[in-house]
Amino acid sequence: MSKEFDLIKIILYTFVMAKIEIKNIKKKYWKTLAVKDFSLDINDQEFCVLTGPSGCGKTTILRIIAGLTGATEGQVIIDGKDVSDDQPKDRDIAMVFQNYALYPHMDVYGNMAFGLTMRKMSKDEIATRVKEAAEILNISKLLEKKPKELSGGEKQRVALGRAIVRKPKLFLFDEPLSNLDEKLRVQMRAELKKIHDKLKATMLYVTHDQIEAMTLGDRICIMKDGIAQQAAAPMDLYGHPANKFVAGFFGFPPMPLVEIKVLKDKGKFFIDEGTFKLQVPDTFKNKIGQYEEQVLTFGIRAEDIQLKSDYTGKLENNTATINVDVVEPMGSEIHLYLNTGKNSFVMRTKISSTIKSGHSVEVAFDMEKMHLFDPQTEKSII
Ligand code: ATP
Repeated sequence: MSKEFDLIKIILYTFVMAKIEIKNIKKKYWKTLAVKDFSLDINDQEFCVLTGPSGCGKTTILRIIAGLTGATEGQVIIDGKDVSDDQPKDRDIAMVFQNYALYPHMDVYGNMAFGLTMRKMSKDEIATRVKEAAEILNISKLLEKKPKELSGGEKQRVALGRAIVRKPKLFLFDEPLSNLDEKLRVQMRAELKKIHDKLKATMLYVTHDQIEAMTLGDRICIMKDGIAQQAAAPMDLYGHPANKFVAGFFGFPPMPLVEIKVLKDKGKFFIDEGTFKLQVPDTFKNKIGQYEEQVLTFGIRAEDIQLKSDYTGKLENNTATINVDVVEPMGSEIHLYLNTGKNSFVMRTKISSTIKSGHSVEVAFDMEKMHLFDPQTEKSII
């Protein structure tokens, strides 16, 4: 019995399995090179987020995976099968766009059922699937309504329902929440996460919104100029950016990236910003040793600079006195923008702080958390 059960489990698993391999995709639109060389593997049942600056090629990648646009070079492989030349209808992929693209003359049921009717599915099976999806999305009461009678959030749910009823191998989302107001976005974000947990489907989700990327993604891929820069779990990406671009792009407030010189004095390493020097922890000696007297890029997150009076770490040679340029109250904390006259930094402090712009503050840098990047390759050194 247990063996049979295991076999059923394996068959079921094989049936829903969807591992996606995107290999060296290049896309040229006439003279525009939209995607230079993009590769990414998405694991079965993974929620993978693709983000990057406007125009870096995110939508183009989604369209190539869906088969709506052909790649100039490269392959899309689903579960080991190269689907690069397959028609969109044969790829078993559902795409949800930011403009819901609902048929205005059809009611919600009709909109959700449309794709299945086109596939000549039986009426009973369609009814079962629409009912199931409507329950998951909490829109069972809306099935007889027309799109014009729905709110933005409800329309987006219907668009999602249309994708869910197909039970596709892969869901592609192109900024599906960007037309919703802030409150609805937060609500839909939480629901999308629950839906992913319920469906256990493989999902690739494009967004500009870093909070969306952080909260939804099992893994986030950051793209720049048509190339994947780094794909990692959200906190890994935040804590260990692979290069200067990822460090500056991902995280709020953005990590300041400033030029420093590496100095050595009595066996200890220091970074010299020009107006202050900080000691590099001995744990980084091996990594920094080869850069003595060289100029590197230094970065540190806002939470890793603290008022000296609040700092609980080792203070030795890691403090500086810097002017406060701008004070930004954020509700739960205050951001202080610091200006050394040469460079700007940003730090977080407590809401009770009475510091005003124009003050000068003594701050401690948590040097265990610092980042250094090679100025030529821009890759992370520490
Ligand atoms: P956004 O975040 O602004 O939506 P994106 O990262 O999704 O941008 P794409 O829409 O994929 O970027 O576009 C990538 C590049 O390809 C851009 O320079 C864009 O102008 C160009 N491009 C996209 N579609 C076409 C097209 N049909 N013809 C010519 N150029 C195009």
